[in-house]
Amino acid sequence: KNQTLGDSIQLLPDHIANQIAAGEVIQRPASAVKELLENSVDAGATEIRLIVADAGKSLIQVADNGKGMSETDARLCFERHATSKISQIDDLFHIQTMGFRGEALASVAAVAQVDLKTRRAADEAGTHIEIENSMVVLQEPCAMAQGTSIAMKNLFFNIPARRNFLKSNAAEMRHIIDEFIRVAMAFPQLFFSLSHNGQNVFHLDKGSLKQRIVQVLGNQYNAKLVPVQEQTDYLNIQGFIGKPEAAKKTRGDQFFFVNNRFIRSAYLHHAVMQAFQDLIPADAFPTYVLFIDLQPDQIDVNVHPTKQEIKFEDEKIVYAFVQAAVKHALAQFSIMPSLEFDI
Ligand code: ADP
Ligand code: MG
Repeated sequence: KNQTLGDSIQLLPDHIANQIAAGEVIQRPASAVKELLENSVDAGATEIRLIVADAGKSLIQVADNGKGMSETDARLCFERHATSKISQIDDLFHIQTMGFRGEALASVAAVAQVDLKTRRAADEAGTHIEIENSMVVLQEPCAMAQGTSIAMKNLFFNIPARRNFLKSNAAEMRHIIDEFIRVAMAFPQLFFSLSHNGQNVFHLDKGSLKQRIVQVLGNQYNAKLVPVQEQTDYLNIQGFIGKPEAAKKTRGDQFFFVNNRFIRSAYLHHAVMQAFQDLIPADAFPTYVLFIDLQPDQIDVNVHPTKQEIKFEDEKIVYAFVQAAVKHALAQFSIMPSLEFDI
């Protein structure tokens, strides 16, 4: 039999295609946590509660008091490329929301059992939906307050090979806390809580950025933060750096946010390191929480599925401003060492 005579391409069924696509978006429990928290922020929630069990391996639940979804949207949100946030390609360069790819919930629905409850303020009843293998297995009206609660259970239950790749609970929990902190730090005006196996881990009351940093990184930072503030026509930089004495031998307390989105950038990290150069030991890392805001058309956030890497239209300018802003803050701090900053 000549194999070359037959056609061999077949279209993958949706749930398989979704499982494959999910691999990019949901690598571990922490990636799901990030996506769910960002959806709650985008929904205008002021209170966001994260509940996990077994480091997210058996349960990840996010409950918010945001605007909620209609019955139809509650089904539609699990479709791939289903989003209320953009409608044309040009919108990508004017992004005001954390999400826009319309992939997160479709991915979640492909790799976990999902239980969604949602209600808009004006609706008489809410909608309760359960999903397994990307299919709706239950839909019924439910009573609830305005907002949305999404629970994903038994992550990768249907992809055992993937589940085997998960690390120890301690390691996965560390990743979850990292993602939680990044979102909580970017929105100090919102309430966040995190509980793990029924134990409270974080309970973050609304407050200023400085209060949020201290809540999250620890009380030892209370008297060790120096404000950074620099504004030009091109960008605005604000936030806090740790005094040189607060520098640590371990990494971890370094945060860049661009238009309120946490990003990784070895390049911008270098700008801060340069500014601290002669003030800290060569093997120490300065603490910083810096928010860079610029016109959305000056960045491209659509270069990576998790959006943690972005492209700047002009990276060199941003580098120069970050370095200048940090140097400026350090200079003010050392000229006026006795001044107590309270912002
Ligand atoms: P994206 O955030 O990129 O739009 P998602 O898959 O994360 O894609 O979500 C799909 C859609 O579901 C969102 O655009 C939004 O309309 C809706 N949605 C998701 N989470 C919530 C929530 N917590 N509250 C209200 N609507 C939500
Ligand atoms: Mg989203």
